[in-house]
Amino acid sequence: MASYTTVPGSSSFITNMNDLGLSAFSSRSSVFSIPKCRKSVFKKIVSVMAPKQSQREPATTGSVKTAMTMTEKIMARASERPQLNPGENVWVNVDTLMTHDVSGSGCFAIFKREFGENAKVWDREKIVVIPDHYIFTADELANRNVDILRDFCLEQNIKHFYDIKDRSDFKANPDYKGVCHIALAQEGHCRPGQVLLGTDSHTCTAGAFGQFATGIGITDAGFVLGTGKLLLKVPPTLRFVMDGEMADYLLAKDLILQIIGEISVSGATYQTMEFVGTTVESLSMEERMTLCNMVIEAGGKNGVIPADATTFKYLEDKTSVPYEPVYSDERARFLSEYRFDISKLEPLVAKPHSPDNRALARECKDVKIDRVYIGSCTGGKTEDFMAAAKVFLNSGRKVKVPTFLVPATQKVWMDLYSLPVPGSGGKTCSQIFEEAGCDTPANPSCSACMGGPKDTYARMNKPMVCVSTTNRNFPGRMGHKEGQIYLASPYTAAASALTGYVTDPREFLQ
Ligand code: SF4
Repeated sequence: MASYTTVPGSSSFITNMNDLGLSAFSSRSSVFSIPKCRKSVFKKIVSVMAPKQSQREPATTGSVKTAMTMTEKIMARASERPQLNPGENVWVNVDTLMTHDVSGSGCFAIFKREFGENAKVWDREKIVVIPDHYIFTADELANRNVDILRDFCLEQNIKHFYDIKDRSDFKANPDYKGVCHIALAQEGHCRPGQVLLGTDSHTCTAGAFGQFATGIGITDAGFVLGTGKLLLKVPPTLRFVMDGEMADYLLAKDLILQIIGEISVSGATYQTMEFVGTTVESLSMEERMTLCNMVIEAGGKNGVIPADATTFKYLEDKTSVPYEPVYSDERARFLSEYRFDISKLEPLVAKPHSPDNRALARECKDVKIDRVYIGSCTGGKTEDFMAAAKVFLNSGRKVKVPTFLVPATQKVWMDLYSLPVPGSGGKTCSQIFEEAGCDTPANPSCSACMGGPKDTYARMNKPMVCVSTTNRNFPGRMGHKEGQIYLASPYTAAASALTGYVTDPREFLQ
Protein backbone atom coordinates (compact mmCIF):
# COMPACT_ATOMS: atom_id res chain seq x y z
CA MET A 1 0.00 0.00 0.00
CA ALA A 2 1.11 3.56 -0.48
CA SER A 3 0.16 6.51 1.66
CA TYR A 4 0.65 10.21 1.21
CA THR A 5 1.56 12.26 4.24
CA THR A 6 2.04 15.89 5.08
CA VAL A 7 4.62 16.68 7.71
CA PRO A 8 3.22 19.17 10.21
CA GLY A 9 5.36 22.28 10.44
CA SER A 10 7.62 21.15 7.66
CA SER A 11 7.75 20.85 3.90
CA SER A 12 5.65 17.96 2.65
CA PHE A 13 8.42 16.33 0.72
CA ILE A 14 7.70 12.71 1.56
CA THR A 15 6.02 11.43 -1.55
CA ASN A 16 4.86 8.09 -0.29
CA MET A 17 5.58 5.25 2.05
CA ASN A 18 5.19 1.75 0.82
CA ASP A 19 4.46 -0.77 3.49
CA LEU A 20 6.10 -3.96 2.43
CA GLY A 21 5.29 -5.88 5.59
CA LEU A 22 5.94 -9.54 5.04
CA SER A 23 4.88 -12.74 6.67
CA ALA A 24 7.00 -12.51 9.80
CA PHE A 25 6.18 -8.88 10.54
CA SER A 26 2.97 -6.95 10.76
CA SER A 27 2.90 -4.13 8.25
CA ARG A 28 2.58 -0.54 9.35
CA SER A 29 -0.38 1.46 8.26
CA SER A 30 1.03 4.88 9.01
CA VAL A 31 4.42 6.52 9.13
CA PHE A 32 3.47 7.88 12.54
CA SER A 33 2.57 4.50 14.08
CA ILE A 34 4.41 3.66 17.27
CA PRO A 35 5.02 0.02 18.17
CA LYS A 36 3.17 -1.13 21.27
CA CYS A 37 5.21 -2.15 24.30
CA ARG A 38 5.22 -5.89 24.91
CA LYS A 39 5.91 -7.65 28.13
CA SER A 40 9.03 -9.78 27.96
CA VAL A 41 9.56 -12.98 29.89
CA PHE A 42 13.11 -13.42 31.11
CA LYS A 43 14.54 -16.80 32.01
CA LYS A 44 17.54 -17.16 34.23
CA ILE A 45 20.60 -17.85 32.13
CA VAL A 46 22.52 -20.71 33.63
CA SER A 47 25.42 -20.76 31.23
CA VAL A 48 26.39 -19.17 27.96
CA MET A 49 28.76 -20.79 25.54
CA ALA A 50 29.58 -19.96 21.95
CA PRO A 51 29.16 -22.99 19.69
CA LYS A 52 32.32 -24.39 18.12
CA GLN A 53 32.81 -22.97 14.69
CA SER A 54 35.03 -23.93 11.84
CA GLN A 55 37.28 -21.58 9.88
CA ARG A 56 35.24 -18.86 8.27
CA GLU A 57 33.79 -19.71 4.89
CA PRO A 58 33.83 -17.37 1.91
CA ALA A 59 30.89 -15.04 1.33
CA THR A 60 27.48 -16.58 0.76
CA THR A 61 26.54 -13.81 -1.59
CA GLY A 62 26.96 -15.84 -4.73
CA SER A 63 24.85 -18.74 -3.59
CA VAL A 64 21.88 -17.31 -1.71
CA LYS A 65 18.68 -19.24 -2.12
CA THR A 66 16.37 -16.62 -0.66
CA ALA A 67 16.81 -12.91 -1.14
CA MET A 68 18.46 -11.12 1.79
CA THR A 69 19.21 -7.56 2.82
CA MET A 70 22.78 -6.28 3.24
CA THR A 71 22.63 -6.64 6.99
CA GLU A 72 21.24 -10.19 6.77
CA LYS A 73 24.02 -11.12 4.35
CA ILE A 74 26.77 -9.67 6.53
CA MET A 75 25.42 -11.49 9.56
CA ALA A 76 24.97 -14.71 7.56
CA ARG A 77 28.58 -14.66 6.47
CA ALA A 78 29.79 -13.74 9.96
CA SER A 79 27.82 -16.64 11.46
CA GLU A 80 28.67 -19.11 8.67
CA ARG A 81 25.06 -19.59 7.77
CA PRO A 82 23.87 -19.73 4.17
CA GLN A 83 20.62 -18.02 5.01
CA LEU A 84 19.25 -15.85 7.82
CA ASN A 85 15.89 -14.35 8.65
CA PRO A 86 15.12 -11.35 10.85
CA GLY A 87 14.51 -12.41 14.44
CA GLU A 88 16.97 -15.33 14.40
CA ASN A 89 19.68 -15.37 17.05
CA VAL A 90 23.12 -16.24 15.74
CA TRP A 91 26.69 -16.39 17.00
CA VAL A 92 28.55 -13.82 14.96
CA ASN A 93 32.31 -13.73 14.41
CA VAL A 94 33.52 -10.21 15.12
CA ASP A 95 35.99 -8.55 12.75
CA THR A 96 36.74 -5.53 14.95
CA LEU A 97 36.00 -4.61 18.56
CA MET A 98 36.43 -0.98 19.62
CA THR A 99 36.42 0.45 23.11
CA HIS A 100 37.32 3.81 24.67
CA ASP A 101 38.21 5.44 27.98
CA VAL A 102 34.68 5.63 29.38
CA SER A 103 33.78 1.97 28.91
CA GLY A 104 37.16 0.26 28.40
CA SER A 105 38.00 -0.24 32.07
CA GLY A 106 34.62 -1.91 32.67
CA CYS A 107 34.89 -4.38 29.81
CA PHE A 108 38.50 -5.23 30.68
CA ALA A 109 37.42 -5.97 34.27
CA ILE A 110 34.61 -8.24 33.07
CA PHE A 111 36.97 -10.01 30.68
CA LYS A 112 39.39 -10.71 33.54
CA ARG A 113 36.66 -11.79 35.94
CA GLU A 114 35.13 -14.25 33.46
CA PHE A 115 38.21 -15.54 31.63
CA GLY A 116 40.82 -15.26 34.38
CA GLU A 117 43.50 -12.80 35.50
CA ASN A 118 46.03 -14.23 33.07
CA ALA A 119 43.70 -14.72 30.10
CA LYS A 120 44.68 -13.45 26.68
CA VAL A 121 42.32 -11.64 24.32
CA TRP A 122 41.05 -13.57 21.32
CA ASP A 123 42.97 -11.52 18.73
CA ARG A 124 45.27 -8.61 19.61
CA GLU A 125 45.06 -7.28 16.05
CA LYS A 126 41.27 -7.01 15.97
CA ILE A 127 40.87 -4.86 19.06
CA VAL A 128 40.99 -1.07 18.70
CA VAL A 129 41.34 1.07 21.83
CA ILE A 130 40.76 4.80 21.47
CA PRO A 131 40.93 7.26 24.36
CA ASP A 132 38.69 10.16 23.33
CA HIS A 133 35.97 11.15 25.79
CA TYR A 134 37.38 12.79 28.92
CA ILE A 135 40.97 13.47 28.02
CA PHE A 136 41.79 17.12 28.65
CA THR A 137 40.66 17.38 32.24
CA ALA A 138 42.19 17.44 35.69
CA ASP A 139 39.60 14.92 36.86
CA GLU A 140 41.59 12.12 38.46
CA LEU A 141 39.11 9.35 37.78
CA ALA A 142 38.89 10.32 34.11
CA ASN A 143 42.67 10.32 33.85
CA ARG A 144 42.81 6.97 35.63
CA ASN A 145 40.53 5.49 32.97
CA VAL A 146 43.09 6.33 30.29
CA ASP A 147 45.87 4.79 32.42
CA ILE A 148 43.82 1.58 32.69
CA LEU A 149 43.52 1.45 28.90
CA ARG A 150 47.29 1.80 28.61
CA ASP A 151 48.04 -0.89 31.19
CA PHE A 152 45.70 -3.38 29.51
CA CYS A 153 46.97 -2.65 26.00
CA LEU A 154 50.57 -3.11 27.11
CA GLU A 155 49.75 -6.33 28.94
CA GLN A 156 47.82 -7.75 25.98
CA ASN A 157 50.09 -6.28 23.31
CA ILE A 158 47.07 -4.67 21.60
CA LYS A 159 48.11 -3.57 18.13
CA HIS A 160 45.78 -0.58 17.70
CA PHE A 161 45.99 1.62 20.78
CA TYR A 162 45.82 5.35 20.08
CA ASP A 163 47.44 6.55 23.29
CA ILE A 164 47.90 9.99 24.79
CA LYS A 165 50.52 10.47 27.48
CA ASP A 166 51.21 14.20 27.33
CA ARG A 167 47.85 15.87 27.86
CA SER A 168 49.42 19.34 27.92
CA ASP A 169 50.07 19.17 24.18
CA PHE A 170 48.10 16.68 22.11
CA LYS A 171 50.42 17.28 19.14
CA ALA A 172 53.22 15.69 21.15
CA ASN A 173 51.28 12.41 20.93
CA PRO A 174 51.41 11.24 17.30
CA ASP A 175 49.44 8.09 18.21
CA TYR A 176 46.57 10.08 19.71
CA LYS A 177 43.64 10.40 17.34
CA GLY A 178 40.51 11.73 19.05
CA VAL A 179 36.84 10.81 18.66
CA CYS A 180 36.66 7.06 18.16
CA HIS A 181 34.12 6.85 15.33
CA ILE A 182 36.02 9.26 13.13
CA ALA A 183 39.37 7.77 14.08
CA LEU A 184 38.10 4.28 13.16
CA ALA A 185 37.34 5.50 9.65
CA GLN A 186 40.50 7.56 9.22
CA GLU A 187 42.72 4.70 10.41
CA GLY A 188 41.16 2.15 8.06
CA HIS A 189 39.22 0.06 10.58
CA CYS A 190 35.88 0.49 8.76
CA ARG A 191 35.52 -2.05 5.97
CA PRO A 192 32.58 -3.13 3.78
CA GLY A 193 30.93 -6.46 4.53
CA GLN A 194 32.51 -6.78 7.98
CA VAL A 195 31.23 -6.76 11.57
CA LEU A 196 32.40 -3.93 13.83
CA LEU A 197 31.21 -3.78 17.44
CA GLY A 198 32.03 -1.01 19.87
CA THR A 199 31.25 -0.07 23.44
CA ASP A 200 29.66 3.17 22.30
CA SER A 201 26.18 3.72 20.94
CA HIS A 202 27.42 5.72 17.96
CA THR A 203 29.45 2.79 16.64
CA CYS A 204 26.64 2.70 14.06
CA THR A 205 28.56 5.50 12.26
CA ALA A 206 30.68 2.86 10.50
CA GLY A 207 27.61 1.53 8.67
CA ALA A 208 28.46 4.26 6.16
CA PHE A 209 31.07 1.82 4.84
CA GLY A 210 28.54 -0.92 4.07
CA GLN A 211 29.33 -2.92 7.17
CA PHE A 212 27.35 -4.12 10.18
CA ALA A 213 28.35 -1.78 13.01
CA THR A 214 26.60 -1.42 16.32
CA GLY A 215 27.13 -0.43 19.93
CA ILE A 216 27.27 -3.07 22.66
CA GLY A 217 27.50 -3.03 26.46
CA ILE A 218 30.61 -3.76 28.47
CA THR A 219 29.45 -7.27 29.45
CA ASP A 220 29.06 -8.24 25.81
CA ALA A 221 32.37 -6.58 25.00
CA GLY A 222 34.08 -8.56 27.79
CA PHE A 223 32.74 -11.73 26.17
CA VAL A 224 33.93 -10.65 22.73
CA LEU A 225 37.39 -9.91 24.13
CA GLY A 226 37.64 -13.52 25.22
CA THR A 227 35.94 -15.31 22.32
CA GLY A 228 35.71 -13.01 19.27
CA LYS A 229 32.02 -13.91 19.06
CA LEU A 230 28.69 -12.50 20.14
CA LEU A 231 25.12 -13.75 20.09
CA LEU A 232 23.08 -11.26 18.05
CA LYS A 233 19.49 -11.15 16.88
CA VAL A 234 19.14 -10.42 13.16
CA PRO A 235 17.28 -7.10 12.82
CA PRO A 236 14.61 -6.50 10.18
CA THR A 237 15.46 -3.69 7.77
CA LEU A 238 13.75 -0.37 7.12
CA ARG A 239 14.73 1.08 3.78
CA PHE A 240 15.05 4.83 3.28
CA VAL A 241 15.15 5.83 -0.38
CA MET A 242 16.35 9.40 -0.86
CA ASP A 243 16.26 10.84 -4.34
CA GLY A 244 16.56 14.31 -5.76
CA GLU A 245 19.23 16.96 -5.88
CA MET A 246 20.34 18.25 -2.50
CA ALA A 247 20.35 22.06 -2.38
CA ASP A 248 23.71 23.61 -1.57
CA TYR A 249 22.40 24.92 1.76
CA LEU A 250 21.66 21.39 3.01
CA LEU A 251 23.88 18.79 4.62
CA ALA A 252 23.42 15.15 5.67
CA LYS A 253 22.51 16.39 9.16
CA ASP A 254 19.32 17.85 7.67
CA LEU A 255 18.50 14.49 6.07
CA ILE A 256 18.83 12.51 9.27
CA LEU A 257 16.98 15.12 11.36
CA GLN A 258 14.13 14.88 8.87
CA ILE A 259 14.05 11.09 9.08
CA ILE A 260 14.17 10.99 12.89
CA GLY A 261 11.49 13.67 13.04
CA GLU A 262 9.43 11.44 10.80
CA ILE A 263 9.76 8.10 12.55
CA SER A 264 10.47 9.32 16.13
CA VAL A 265 13.22 8.33 18.55
CA SER A 266 11.76 4.84 18.82
CA GLY A 267 10.76 4.43 15.19
CA ALA A 268 13.58 2.06 14.27
CA THR A 269 14.02 0.22 17.56
CA TYR A 270 16.19 -2.87 16.96
CA GLN A 271 15.89 -2.39 13.22
CA THR A 272 18.39 -1.73 10.48
CA MET A 273 18.13 1.60 8.68
CA GLU A 274 19.39 1.11 5.13
CA PHE A 275 19.95 4.31 3.15
CA VAL A 276 19.85 4.26 -0.64
CA GLY A 277 18.93 6.50 -3.59
CA THR A 278 20.58 9.05 -5.80
CA THR A 279 20.96 11.59 -2.99
CA VAL A 280 22.79 9.09 -0.80
CA GLU A 281 25.01 8.07 -3.71
CA SER A 282 26.02 11.71 -4.15
CA LEU A 283 27.18 12.06 -0.53
CA SER A 284 30.85 12.00 0.47
CA MET A 285 31.99 9.42 3.03
CA GLU A 286 32.00 12.00 5.81
CA GLU A 287 28.42 12.96 5.01
CA ARG A 288 27.40 9.28 4.88
CA MET A 289 28.94 8.91 8.32
CA THR A 290 26.74 11.75 9.61
CA LEU A 291 23.68 9.93 8.27
CA CYS A 292 24.57 6.61 9.91
CA ASN A 293 25.85 8.25 13.10
CA MET A 294 22.36 9.24 14.20
CA VAL A 295 20.43 6.02 13.47
CA ILE A 296 20.75 5.23 17.17
CA GLU A 297 18.75 8.41 17.82
CA ALA A 298 15.84 6.60 16.14
CA GLY A 299 16.55 3.45 18.16
CA GLY A 300 18.16 1.74 15.16
CA LYS A 301 20.34 -1.31 15.71
CA ASN A 302 22.54 -0.27 12.81
CA GLY A 303 22.59 1.95 9.77
CA VAL A 304 24.00 0.86 6.47
CA ILE A 305 24.84 2.36 3.08
CA PRO A 306 25.89 0.21 0.10
CA ALA A 307 29.61 0.51 -0.63
CA ASP A 308 30.40 2.12 -3.98
CA ALA A 309 33.18 3.91 -5.83
CA THR A 310 33.16 6.70 -3.21
CA THR A 311 33.70 4.11 -0.47
CA PHE A 312 36.46 2.29 -2.31
CA LYS A 313 38.24 5.56 -3.11
CA TYR A 314 38.16 6.59 0.57
CA LEU A 315 39.59 3.22 1.61
CA GLU A 316 42.31 3.14 -1.05
CA ASP A 317 45.12 4.48 1.13
CA LYS A 318 43.69 3.44 4.50
CA THR A 319 43.65 -0.33 4.68
CA SER A 320 45.32 -3.34 3.17
CA VAL A 321 43.02 -5.75 4.99
CA PRO A 322 40.91 -7.62 2.43
CA TYR A 323 37.16 -7.03 2.53
CA GLU A 324 34.19 -8.09 0.46
CA PRO A 325 31.18 -5.79 0.09
CA VAL A 326 27.66 -7.22 0.01
CA TYR A 327 24.46 -5.67 -1.28
CA SER A 328 20.76 -6.15 -0.66
CA ASP A 329 19.16 -8.48 -3.20
CA GLU A 330 16.61 -6.93 -5.50
CA ARG A 331 13.87 -9.02 -3.91
CA ALA A 332 15.10 -8.63 -0.33
CA ARG A 333 12.41 -8.24 2.32
CA PHE A 334 12.13 -4.83 3.96
CA LEU A 335 9.88 -4.16 6.90
CA SER A 336 8.94 -0.75 5.49
CA GLU A 337 10.17 1.52 2.78
CA TYR A 338 10.21 5.30 3.11
CA ARG A 339 10.70 7.51 0.05
CA PHE A 340 11.93 11.09 0.18
CA ASP A 341 12.23 13.81 -2.44
CA ILE A 342 15.22 15.67 -1.06
CA SER A 343 14.89 18.53 -3.55
CA LYS A 344 12.05 19.86 -1.38
CA LEU A 345 13.86 19.71 1.94
CA GLU A 346 14.64 22.85 3.96
CA PRO A 347 17.29 23.35 6.69
CA LEU A 348 16.15 21.77 9.94
CA VAL A 349 16.88 21.75 13.65
CA ALA A 350 15.89 19.42 16.47
CA LYS A 351 14.58 21.56 19.31
CA PRO A 352 15.17 20.73 22.98
CA HIS A 353 14.98 18.10 24.39
CA SER A 354 14.79 15.31 21.83
CA PRO A 355 16.41 14.56 18.45
CA ASP A 356 12.95 13.96 16.97
CA ASN A 357 11.65 17.39 17.99
CA ARG A 358 12.07 18.60 14.43
CA ALA A 359 11.40 22.12 13.17
CA LEU A 360 12.42 24.22 10.21
CA ALA A 361 15.39 26.43 11.10
CA ARG A 362 13.43 29.44 9.84
CA GLU A 363 10.59 28.66 12.22
CA CYS A 364 12.98 29.19 15.14
CA LYS A 365 14.35 32.54 14.02
CA ASP A 366 13.15 34.23 17.23
CA VAL A 367 15.05 31.84 19.48
CA LYS A 368 17.90 33.84 21.00
CA ILE A 369 20.99 31.75 21.64
CA ASP A 370 23.97 32.03 23.98
CA ARG A 371 26.54 29.97 22.11
CA VAL A 372 27.35 27.71 19.18
CA TYR A 373 29.23 24.42 19.35
CA ILE A 374 30.73 22.79 16.25
CA GLY A 375 32.26 19.40 16.97
CA SER A 376 31.70 15.70 17.81
CA CYS A 377 31.54 12.51 15.74
CA THR A 378 28.44 13.94 14.04
CA GLY A 379 29.57 17.45 13.20
CA GLY A 380 33.29 17.75 13.92
CA LYS A 381 34.76 16.33 10.72
CA THR A 382 36.86 18.25 8.20
CA GLU A 383 33.92 18.77 5.85
CA ASP A 384 31.76 20.03 8.73
CA PHE A 385 34.29 22.76 9.46
CA MET A 386 34.68 23.53 5.75
CA ALA A 387 30.89 24.05 5.63
CA ALA A 388 30.94 26.38 8.63
CA ALA A 389 33.89 28.30 7.15
CA LYS A 390 31.95 28.76 3.91
CA VAL A 391 29.14 30.50 5.80
CA PHE A 392 31.56 32.77 7.68
CA LEU A 393 33.42 33.56 4.46
CA ASN A 394 30.26 34.38 2.52
CA SER A 395 28.97 36.67 5.25
CA GLY A 396 32.18 38.59 5.88
CA ARG A 397 30.77 39.21 9.37
CA LYS A 398 31.78 38.38 12.92
CA VAL A 399 30.01 35.96 15.22
CA LYS A 400 27.65 37.45 17.82
CA VAL A 401 27.92 34.64 20.39
CA PRO A 402 30.83 32.54 21.64
CA THR A 403 31.49 29.91 18.99
CA PHE A 404 33.36 26.80 20.08
CA LEU A 405 35.17 24.61 17.55
CA VAL A 406 36.22 21.09 18.53
CA PRO A 407 37.85 19.03 15.75
CA ALA A 408 36.96 15.35 16.11
CA THR A 409 40.49 14.10 15.57
CA GLN A 410 44.09 15.23 15.31
CA LYS A 411 43.84 14.83 11.52
CA VAL A 412 40.80 17.11 11.40
CA TRP A 413 42.67 19.64 13.54
CA MET A 414 45.59 19.57 11.09
CA ASP A 415 43.21 19.96 8.14
CA LEU A 416 41.81 23.14 9.69
CA TYR A 417 45.28 24.64 9.65
CA SER A 418 46.42 23.36 6.27
CA LEU A 419 43.60 22.85 3.73
CA PRO A 420 42.47 25.84 1.70
CA VAL A 421 38.74 26.56 1.83
CA PRO A 422 37.33 26.55 -1.74
CA GLY A 423 36.64 30.06 -3.02
CA SER A 424 38.63 31.75 -0.27
CA GLY A 425 41.76 32.59 -2.23
CA GLY A 426 43.80 30.08 -0.25
CA LYS A 427 42.63 30.79 3.28
CA THR A 428 42.40 27.91 5.74
CA CYS A 429 39.45 27.21 8.03
CA SER A 430 41.47 28.39 11.02
CA GLN A 431 42.13 31.76 9.36
CA ILE A 432 38.47 32.22 8.46
CA PHE A 433 37.37 31.23 11.97
CA GLU A 434 39.80 33.72 13.48
CA GLU A 435 38.57 36.51 11.23
CA ALA A 436 34.99 35.68 12.20
CA GLY A 437 35.85 35.89 15.90
CA CYS A 438 35.37 32.21 16.79
CA ASP A 439 37.26 30.53 19.61
CA THR A 440 40.54 28.91 18.55
CA PRO A 441 40.00 25.27 17.48
CA ALA A 442 40.30 23.16 20.64
CA ASN A 443 42.09 19.93 21.40
CA PRO A 444 40.50 17.05 19.46
CA SER A 445 38.21 14.94 21.65
CA CYS A 446 34.56 14.44 22.53
CA SER A 447 34.85 17.55 24.70
CA ALA A 448 31.43 18.94 25.72
CA CYS A 449 29.33 16.72 23.44
CA MET A 450 28.59 14.55 26.46
CA GLY A 451 29.12 17.14 29.17
CA GLY A 452 32.06 15.58 30.93
CA PRO A 453 33.89 16.78 34.04
CA LYS A 454 33.29 20.41 35.11
CA ASP A 455 36.53 21.64 33.51
CA THR A 456 35.70 20.18 30.07
CA TYR A 457 36.20 22.71 27.28
CA ALA A 458 32.92 24.36 26.21
CA ARG A 459 30.85 22.43 28.76
CA MET A 460 27.54 24.16 29.54
CA ASN A 461 28.07 24.82 33.24
CA LYS A 462 24.97 27.00 33.60
CA PRO A 463 21.58 27.13 31.89
CA MET A 464 22.00 28.50 28.37
CA VAL A 465 20.79 28.00 24.82
CA CYS A 466 23.19 26.38 22.37
CA VAL A 467 23.02 25.53 18.68
CA SER A 468 25.15 22.41 18.28
CA THR A 469 26.28 20.10 15.50
CA THR A 470 26.23 17.15 17.93
CA ASN A 471 23.70 14.32 18.00
CA ARG A 472 21.83 14.45 21.31
CA ASN A 473 19.91 17.22 23.05
CA PHE A 474 18.48 15.48 26.10
CA PRO A 475 18.44 17.47 29.37
CA GLY A 476 21.98 17.67 30.76
CA ARG A 477 23.64 16.15 27.72
CA MET A 478 26.17 18.98 27.32
CA GLY A 479 26.42 19.85 31.01
CA HIS A 480 23.73 21.79 32.86
CA LYS A 481 20.41 19.98 33.03
CA GLU A 482 18.51 23.17 32.24
CA GLY A 483 20.59 23.89 29.16
CA GLN A 484 18.74 23.95 25.86
CA ILE A 485 20.33 22.38 22.80
CA TYR A 486 19.21 22.90 19.22
CA LEU A 487 20.76 20.21 17.02
CA ALA A 488 21.67 21.54 13.59
CA SER A 489 23.94 21.19 10.59
CA PRO A 490 27.28 23.04 10.49
CA TYR A 491 25.71 25.50 7.99
CA THR A 492 22.86 26.30 10.37
CA ALA A 493 25.19 26.43 13.38
CA ALA A 494 27.52 28.91 11.65
CA ALA A 495 24.61 31.06 10.43
CA SER A 496 23.19 31.11 13.96
CA ALA A 497 26.58 32.18 15.36
CA LEU A 498 26.51 35.18 13.02
CA THR A 499 23.08 36.41 14.16
CA GLY A 500 22.81 35.22 17.75
CA TYR A 501 19.51 33.54 16.88
CA VAL A 502 18.65 30.17 15.35
CA THR A 503 19.11 31.02 11.69
CA ASP A 504 18.34 29.43 8.34
CA PRO A 505 21.71 29.28 6.52
CA ARG A 506 20.11 30.43 3.27
CA GLU A 507 20.47 33.91 4.73
CA PHE A 508 24.20 33.64 4.04
CA LEU A 509 24.44 31.03 1.29
CA GLN A 510 22.21 32.45 -1.44
S1 SF4 B 1 31.60 12.92 20.11
FE1 SF4 B 1 29.82 12.76 21.47
S2 SF4 B 1 28.46 11.26 20.54
FE2 SF4 B 1 30.48 11.06 19.56
S3 SF4 B 1 31.52 9.42 20.68
FE3 SF4 B 1 32.09 11.37 21.66
S4 SF4 B 1 30.59 11.72 23.29
FE4 SF4 B 1 29.77 10.11 21.95
